[in-house]
This record gives sequence, C-alpha cells and structure tokens, in this order.
Amino acid sequence: AAPIALISGMSRASRNGIIVKTGTTIEKLALAKSAAFDKTGTITNGQLTVDQVVPMIDIEPSELCRLAASAEQASAHILARSLLQVVPAAQLLEIISLKEMTGAGVTAQLASGQTVQVGKFEFVAPDQAKQSQTQTTVYIGIDGRYAGYITFIDHLRQEAPQTMSTLHQLGLQRLMMLTGDQATTAKEIAAQVGIDEVHAGCLPADKIRLINNVTPEQRPIIMVGDGVNDAPSLASADVGIAMGAHGATAASESADVVILKDDLSRVSGAITIARDTMRVAR
Ligand code: ADP
Ligand code: MG
Repeated sequence: AAPIALISGMSRASRNGIIVKTGTTIEKLALAKSAAFDKTGTITNGQLTVDQVVPMIDIEPSELCRLAASAEQASAHILARSLLQVVPAAQLLEIISLKEMTGAGVTAQLASGQTVQVGKFEFVAPDQAKQSQTQTTVYIGIDGRYAGYITFIDHLRQEAPQTMSTLHQLGLQRLMMLTGDQATTAKEIAAQVGIDEVHAGCLPADKIRLINNVTPEQRPIIMVGDGVNDAPSLASADVGIAMGAHGATAASESADVVILKDDLSRVSGAITIARDTMRVAR
C-alpha cells in the first residue's frame, strides 16, 4: 500500500492507544490468521493475590509464607512480587546466597540456616507425584524437602472472552495460549476465555519454537505478551504486540505494536483499523 495510507492508519491506531511502529506492520495485521497469547498479565490482569497457604509439613502457614517471601525478596517475577505483598518487610530473613532459574523458581540460603526453594512443583519436588491445582500456585521446599504450597487468585481481564470471540469473527483460524504456568491452571483460564489450544509449562525457547512451527497458511501470526520473558517470542512472531500499560520495557522494545491502554480488546481493534486502512489504500 502507499506509505501515506499506512501512515494515516498508524495515526488512527495511535489515537486509539495503539502504537504501531512501522507501516508494514499494518499490512501484516490486516492479514493476520493466527494469534498466540501469554497468560499471566495478558489474558489475566496480572494482579495476583495470595489465596491459600497450605503447609505439607509441621510448620505454621505464616512461617511458611515468611520463608517463601524471604527467598523471593530479590526476584522480579510477578509471583515473587505478589507473595511479598503479604509479608511485612521487617519479617523478612536475610539471604546469604541465591540462585534464580528462569521458568522454574529460586533457591535461597537464608541467614536463619534454612535453604528454601520456591517455584514450580517439578523444580521443588522433582521426585514426587504432583497434586493438581487449578489456581496459579507456587510450591515451597525447605532443606530439600517439599514443605507446602501457596495459591493465588488471578482474575481474567473482563474483556478477554469478548476479544477472543471477536478474533474468531474476524476470521482468525488459530488462537493459542503459551504459558510457563502449569497445565491445570492454563486449561482452566483458556476454557473461561474461549481458547482451545493450550501450551503450558513453556520455557521462553518453547514459546519461540511453537511460533516458528506455525505453517505459512496460518500466517501472519500475532503474539501478545507483557512480561520480560515474552520479549523473545514477541520478536519471533510476524507481529509482536506488547500490553504496555504495566508491562515490561523489554516486551515493549521487542514488539511491533504497543498497546498503551490496559485493554486487551485493542488487539482486535488493531486488526480492524489495519483492515480499514488497507481497504482505503487499495
Ligand atoms: P509465565 O510468566 O509464562 O508463567 P515463567 O517462565 O516466568 O512463565 O515461569 C514459569 C513458571 O515457573 C511459573 O508459572 C512459576 O510456576 C515458576 N517460576 C518461575 N520463576 C519463579 C519465581 N521467582 N518464583 C516462583 N515461581 C517461579
Ligand atoms: Mg505475562
């Protein structure tokens, strides 16, 4: 299309809180056939609140929470930040040594003498059979022993189900969820929002591989995410869209489109604007 038409599309998008960085993105958005979504902070609002604290050994829930929050005090992960909201800073125990594993969790040696692990079940208790939680959950190990778990409430963005049905109406063939979270939680959220293809337990490299595996007939593919760990998959999609209102800078930098309003429906809005622009341009 003529550059002038693409520029007018970009300016219409920006008036709607949708920053499109290049004109060719308008052309790809108009033709999009698939879309992939991160879960936490993208399909859900990412404002996690602690729900239940469940010890599996002889320990007070408040003490389990204190140890977990202490181990997480240096982590930027959304689960770590949410956990730290329920423990007063003055109660945190000092960390002597710390190791954070991307997509798995943290191991911290505390000044109190304990070694505390917080993260996904496979990370904390690799040799045990997992109980399935439908809520987002962190599991806790103390001195190499599985010690309990903490569940979180993570609300769907209210506009998410409508956004998915609009994308179907716009003719997108394939909608998927790519998440590092556990399968039980991912499937529950996907069902509520109307996505039937779910890939859980994804490391950043898995998300990239899944996007790269999308066939030419199913392209262009859009990837929508908000976190630091979404930056590589946003860059590998044909169109990367960052939810920028509270999202990570790294995600916004890797994206082709940044949505400034905290509103997922701008994703389908961006496609509609792009199609209108291309119709006028031809
Ligand atoms: P996503 O943001 O897609 O859920 P991540 O790759 O950040 O994925 O993490 C995958 C999973 O690993 C999380 O759902 C969580 O269970 C666990 N995890 C990673 N880092 C931490 C952390 N600092 N504290 C607790 N759990 C973590
Ligand atoms: Mg996220």
